[in-house]
Amino acid sequence: MGSTVFERHRPDRALVARALAPSTHASFWLDDVSAQPHAALRADLSCDLAVVGGGYSGLWAALLAKQADPGARVVLLEARTIGWAASGRNGGFCEASLTHGEENGRTRFGDEYEQLERLGLRNLDEIEQTVAALGLDCDFERNGAIDVATEPHQVEWLREAANGDDVRFLETDAVRAALASPTYLAGLLRTRDSALVHPAKLARELARACAEAGVEIFEHSPVTTLDTSAPAIPGGVDVRTTGATVHARRVALGTNAFPSLLKRNALATVPVYDYVLMTEPLSEEQLASIGWQGRQGVGDSANQFHYYRLSADNRILWGGYDAIYHYGRKVRSAYEDRPTTFARLASHFFTTFPQLEDVSFTHRWAGAIDTCSRFCAFYGTARGGRIAYAAGYTGLGVGATRFGAQVMLDMLSGERTERTELKMVRSTPIPFPPEPVASLGIQATRWSLDRADHNAGKRNIILKALDAVGLGFDS
Ligand SMILES: Cc1cc2nc3c(=O)[nH]c(=O)nc-3n(C[C@H](O)[C@H](O)[C@H](O)COP(=O)(O)OP(=O)(O)OC[C@H]3O[C@@H](n4cnc5c(N)ncnc54)[C@H](O)[C@@H]3O)c2cc1C
Repeated sequence: MGSTVFERHRPDRALVARALAPSTHASFWLDDVSAQPHAALRADLSCDLAVVGGGYSGLWAALLAKQADPGARVVLLEARTIGWAASGRNGGFCEASLTHGEENGRTRFGDEYEQLERLGLRNLDEIEQTVAALGLDCDFERNGAIDVATEPHQVEWLREAANGDDVRFLETDAVRAALASPTYLAGLLRTRDSALVHPAKLARELARACAEAGVEIFEHSPVTTLDTSAPAIPGGVDVRTTGATVHARRVALGTNAFPSLLKRNALATVPVYDYVLMTEPLSEEQLASIGWQGRQGVGDSANQFHYYRLSADNRILWGGYDAIYHYGRKVRSAYEDRPTTFARLASHFFTTFPQLEDVSFTHRWAGAIDTCSRFCAFYGTARGGRIAYAAGYTGLGVGATRFGAQVMLDMLSGERTERTELKMVRSTPIPFPPEPVASLGIQATRWSLDRADHNAGKRNIILKALDAVGLGFDS
C-alpha cells in the first residue's frame, strides 16, 4: 500500500496542537451573524402551504411560493432556529451541479445529463440574480473553483475533465501560481459553475426576504405528525407541532438529514458527519505567501477529499476528509466533537500550506450531511400529492436546494413541468439497509475508499460491486 502526500509530509504534532488550542467548538458562520428570532407557534391556524424546516430547502420553498402567488398564506415551521443545522455550518460552495458532479450525473442519468447541467447553471444564475435583486447580504462571490491533484494518478483525471473553455486544465506551475501549495501537481479551473457564500448569512437573509414577502415564520416549533385522517381543510393536512396545529392545504418538507416525517423515507438517507476548521483572518503577508488572488473555492481529488476557501475577511475554511457515520442513523450533537478528526484536518492543512505555520484556528465544528445512495437529491409526493419532499443532497445542497424547492412546488401544483419530467426527479435511490447491515456496509465502503486513495485510485471488489448496482457512500 502506498501513502498519500499528507502522510509523507506530516507536520510536527506540536504545531497541530498549538494551532488548534485556541479554537472554539462552534460554527464560525453562526457565530458571525446576529440572530433574528421568531416566535414559536402557539395557536392553531390555516394556510395554503406549510413548509417544514428552516434551512435553505424550506426557506427557498417558502420564498418561491410567495413570489409565485403573493396572495397565498405561507407558514414555515422550524424545530429550532433558522439555519442552525447544515445550512449554517457548511463550506459555502454554491455549485451549479444538481448531480453531485459530472461523473455521477453522467453515470446515473445518461443522456439527460446535458439538460441537468443547463438547469443547474440556470439555477446558479438565478441564485445570483436573486441575491442582487433582493439585496441579500451573504458575501456572494462568483469566483469559480479549482480542483487540485495531489497524487500522480489524479492528474489524468483532471486532464480528461477539461473542456478547454470554462473548464481548464492547469499544469503544476499554473496551479501553484493560482494558489501556492507544494502538494499540487495539477489543477482544473472551473470558471462558470461555482460561487461562494457566507452560509449563515444566506439563511438569515433568505428568512428576511421570506418575512418581507409575507411568509409567517415560527421557530422552536417541531412538527411531530402529518395527519391526513380527518383534516380541517378537506383534502389537506393537519400539521401538528408540539405547540399547536397548522391546517394546511399543502405541505413541503425540507427536513434534510433529520428523521423523515414520512415512513417511506426512513431508510432513504443516513446522516454522515462532516468536520470543519476555520483559521483566524490571514495577515496581508500570510495571504501573499499563498497567492489565491482569484479567491476560488478549492477541492482536492481523492475519494476522501478536503474543501477549502477564503471568507470575506480572509480566513481559511478547511473541511472534509473524514466522513463519519455513527451506528443507528442518529443526528446528535455528541457526534460533533471529534478530536482525532480535527487533528487530522489541521495536520493536512499544514501539509498543504507549510508557509502558514504561524496561523491558528479559531473555530472547529461539524454537521450532519443527508447522504443517499445516489449522492444527489431525490424528490416525491405522499398522501395523494398533498405533501412533497426533497432530500438526499449528500453534501452538495447549497445551490441545489433551490432547484429542489422548485420541484416540490411544481409537484404540489400538480402541473407537469420540465423539472417534473426529469428522470432524475422521477427515479428514487436504493434505500440503505437497516442496522446492523447499514453500519457494516458503510464501514466496509469507507475502508475501501481509503485503500483506493492509498493505491493510485484503484477500486477494490467491494467498490466495483457497489458501482455495478449504482449504490454508494459519499459526503
Ligand atoms: C459540514 C458541512 C459542509 C457542507 N458543505 C457544503 C458545501 O460547501 N456546498 C454545498 O453545496 N453543500 C454543503 N453541505 C450540504 C448543505 O449544507 C446542505 O445540503 C443544505 O444546507 C441542506 O439544506 P436543508 O434546508 O435541506 O437542510 P438543513 O439546513 O439541515 O435544514 C433542515 C431543517 O429542518 C428542520 N427540521 C427537521 N425536522 C423537523 C421537524 N420535524 N419539524 C420542524 N423542523 C424540522 C431542522 O431543525 C433544520 O433546521 C455541507 C454540509 C455540512 C454539514
